[in-house]
Amino acid sequence: MSERIIIIGGGPNGLAAAGLLAKAGRDVLLLEARDRLGGLAARDTFHEGYAAPGVLHDTRGLRPHVVEALDLARYGLRFRPAPLNVWAPTAAGGVWITQDGLIGDVDEAENVAYAKLRALIERVRPVVARVMDGLPLSPESSLWSLLRTGWALRRLGPETMMELLRVAPMSVADWMRDTFASERVRAALALPALLGQHTGPRSPHTATNLLVQEALAGPGVLGGAAALVGHLAEAAEAQGAVLRRGTRVARIDGDRDGVTGVTLDDGERLRSRVVLSTLDPKTTFLSLFDRRQLPVDFVRDVERYRMRGSTASMQLALTAPLRTAGGERVEAMRTGETLDDLERAFDGLKYRRRAEAPVLEAWVPSAEDPTLCPEGHAVVSVLVHGVPRDLAGGWTAGERDAVGDAVIRTLTRYFPSLPEHLVDAEVLTPEDIEARFGVAGGHLLHGEHAPDQLLFMRPTRQAGQYRTPIPRLYVGGASSHPGGGVTCGPGALAARAILRAKAGVEPAM
Ligand SMILES: Cc1cc2nc3c(=O)[nH]c(=O)nc-3n(C[C@H](O)[C@H](O)[C@H](O)COP(=O)(O)OP(=O)(O)OC[C@H]3O[C@@H](n4cnc5c(N)ncnc54)[C@H](O)[C@@H]3O)c2cc1C
Repeated sequence: MSERIIIIGGGPNGLAAAGLLAKAGRDVLLLEARDRLGGLAARDTFHEGYAAPGVLHDTRGLRPHVVEALDLARYGLRFRPAPLNVWAPTAAGGVWITQDGLIGDVDEAENVAYAKLRALIERVRPVVARVMDGLPLSPESSLWSLLRTGWALRRLGPETMMELLRVAPMSVADWMRDTFASERVRAALALPALLGQHTGPRSPHTATNLLVQEALAGPGVLGGAAALVGHLAEAAEAQGAVLRRGTRVARIDGDRDGVTGVTLDDGERLRSRVVLSTLDPKTTFLSLFDRRQLPVDFVRDVERYRMRGSTASMQLALTAPLRTAGGERVEAMRTGETLDDLERAFDGLKYRRRAEAPVLEAWVPSAEDPTLCPEGHAVVSVLVHGVPRDLAGGWTAGERDAVGDAVIRTLTRYFPSLPEHLVDAEVLTPEDIEARFGVAGGHLLHGEHAPDQLLFMRPTRQAGQYRTPIPRLYVGGASSHPGGGVTCGPGALAARAILRAKAGVEPAM
């Protein structure tokens, strides 16, 4: 059988894995269903003359070890010279969250608290990076790996370690309430912890999401997600990987003795000894593979894996950039003025209702990439939180329009002239995201980030080290450690696991 490695999916993780495996001398064929690479980060024209760089815009999670291993600087990758400032508006003005401090309607005490929070994040950054950038630690990990992580924790010192242990199980609402007096600051800082969650800010463990996200945040890629995808593809092709677009995998072939290749939707069969799927586990194992070949307990775990989409995406074409009443240009903003606003937005998810007042994270990708729209105009990309995939009564055109109306209503509160500048808009419900990008549940992160779905348990215990119960079938998309986001971490670690198996360091299973 061919020694070729087939990778399914040309998103950030598939591309990173392709580059690394090709660099190690492997014969790599990547298959992407859409006519363009990038997965959720692929550029899409949604109105003539206006394009969105995919549905995502935050590239601050990109892992430095991937940049280094693929030598992405050689293929043009540059980081933003200045970090992004985020506006947390109120009707009266609001607060700017910057790396150096909070600016706006806050007093000095809030800034002191913010500086302490940033200092804590800086202190834990190396430990979080160690855990997230390595193969997932598990009870079966070598004593040496466990000791090294334990030692890194110990070196934080007793005070930081105690603070870490105190904060980790907390709700992000409690943590923010402990730390800040301003409700606006609390809500603005808490929102990223809820990305892709089915729970509100008062749910336990949500503080960990914030801590990890902040500790992993880098400067972001110049040119945004679209530029990153270009650099990854160029690096992979330069190493000899073949990237086939417009090629949908209909079936992963093989049985419990091992994978043998894939069958495309036009019936073509491609043979391969190793297959790496960067799709979510429900699609990989329950749709593309013959589930009768899988252990029953594994199928049950995959079925139980939670990936209930809770966020819609909206792109707006505007004839003018977003500016505050004071004339400052906005590149990123978060709505939801209080923790209660956040709680209410996520509340309806339990009852399969969409939020009447969703909370938004809005970005202006055209500020970085002016080729997205006519000169002087703007493209705004919005994550709309509190929108369930499984809406009671199902999704209709009317329900989709209602999401768009709620977004316009919310943004107009802070930009009163927005309706005059609106050329067009596109709303993608979680159902649309599922259909367009092939992610079950339309879930942003290919699965919720919760304590039982992280580290060696992501996506399930038996597939938590990138190997699966099927010999030579690997997983390595956002539903593997270290999780969702444009990090390229799962793809890179899956590539490492494949190379280790090949080298005999670990069994190929
Ligand atoms: C609306 C939205 C906004 C987001 N915003 C951000 C953000 O700002 N920052 C951030 O860090 N993360 C964001 N995320 C999360 C991030 O996009 C994902 O975690 C990341 O893209 C995962 O990369 P991946 O390579 O694992 O999978 P994907 O990007 O999902 O790529 C999988 C690829 O597989 C292809 N595919 C699917 N089925 C098949 C098939 N049968 N055959 C062949 N190919 C197939 C798809 O077309 C896709 O290209 C967002 C997600 C969404 C949905």
